[in-house]
Amino acid sequence: MLQAVRGTKDLLPDVINDWHYIEEIFRKVTKKFNYKELRTPIFEYTEVFSRGVGEGTDIVNKEMYTFQDKGENSLTLRPEMTASLVRAVIQNNLTAQETVARLWYFGPFFRYERPQKGRQRQFHQFGAECLSSANPESDVEILLLADNLIKELGIKDYKLLLNSLGNKSSILSYKKELTSFLKSEFENLSEDSKRRLDQNPLRVLDSKDEKDLKVTQNAPKLIDFLDEESKEHFKFVTNSLDHLNINYEINHKLVRGLDYYSHTVFEFQSNYLGSQDSFGGGGRYNELFEELGGKHTPAVGFAFGVERLLMILESQKLINKNNNNLDFYIVCFGKEYFSYVIEISTLLQKNGYSVNYDISRKSFKSQLKDSDKLKANFSVIIGENEVISNQFVVKNMISGEQMKIKLENFSKFVKF
Ligand code: AMP
Repeated sequence: MLQAVRGTKDLLPDVINDWHYIEEIFRKVTKKFNYKELRTPIFEYTEVFSRGVGEGTDIVNKEMYTFQDKGENSLTLRPEMTASLVRAVIQNNLTAQETVARLWYFGPFFRYERPQKGRQRQFHQFGAECLSSANPESDVEILLLADNLIKELGIKDYKLLLNSLGNKSSILSYKKELTSFLKSEFENLSEDSKRRLDQNPLRVLDSKDEKDLKVTQNAPKLIDFLDEESKEHFKFVTNSLDHLNINYEINHKLVRGLDYYSHTVFEFQSNYLGSQDSFGGGGRYNELFEELGGKHTPAVGFAFGVERLLMILESQKLINKNNNNLDFYIVCFGKEYFSYVIEISTLLQKNGYSVNYDISRKSFKSQLKDSDKLKANFSVIIGENEVISNQFVVKNMISGEQMKIKLENFSKFVKF
């Protein structure tokens, strides 16, 4: 039997309502903040990600689905959105029309990672980006938007981890100090970190390996390397969060995997997820537009993993499993009455109701059973007597109540 590719999932009708529900909330929350949706192609020229995400990152080095098309272009299925979004904003000159561009997105992403609970090769992200402002006000807005989403979904018991990488010169001086510290501890590092050390020393701080955790306990702290401007930026963010009663924890080792971050970085963690406990994250990226050939455009944004959000909603019983959305089932005594079935069904549909009827020529009894199975709110019964008397029986499947309604009165009935 043919199977779906490892690490991918079919979203079957029994879960799709949960997806519609969460997508509705994405729309509702972003609308309140006047963010506009943007959709970009699923694949891009590979260069968008190698330049945009960074050559030294795991995503680019190990996880991209890259292939050559028939025109010998190197293309990549998008592993994340920010680089694609920046490419699209530059190409379509979106920041020219507004002083600040506020954008959001939702869709599938692809990473060749080892599949496990909460980790797939095709997964979905919802994210938002606030473009053009270098000020910490926009960091606060983005964090407030993320907080609104979490509250709207009803998620509690989660942690917001926060850190600042500072500006470019702070990061550079920190990287230098960190590298020399890690070199002095070289023998105590994991094999992975030994390899990472030259390309991306910050990543060693991210490592979950016991050996690395021991070493990095005593590593120099980012926060001690912030210059005045960077300190002020971060203080503005933390003061605002305090004022807004948004709880956070400063985590000195939080650096996030990607090359493009500076200043504020953050991550949302939940105990309901097991080892893959991060359900969202983001930060400020001021250099990415120039990296991809655009003009200087400071920006800040976040991405949430939608599968992980749904896992939390499920485990906290925050999702309504009531999938009953069939309004009417039309039960028919024989194929000769099919035109009545269609007439009544069309009338009901015009009034916005969902309708099912039998197309397999089943017996009257089996049709009634189907009506039950499909959890219809109402059944309409059409047979010889009904056609002759022009009166149709409508049965409320919940209360069992029945009434007879004339065809010409149907539209009045369905009005309320
Ligand atoms: P990132 O772009 O790596 O910062 O990821 C942002 C969020 O996307 C994470 O916090 C996860 O919730 C989700 N995510 C990332 N990679 C995967 C994956 N392979 N499978 C499922 N969710 C993922």
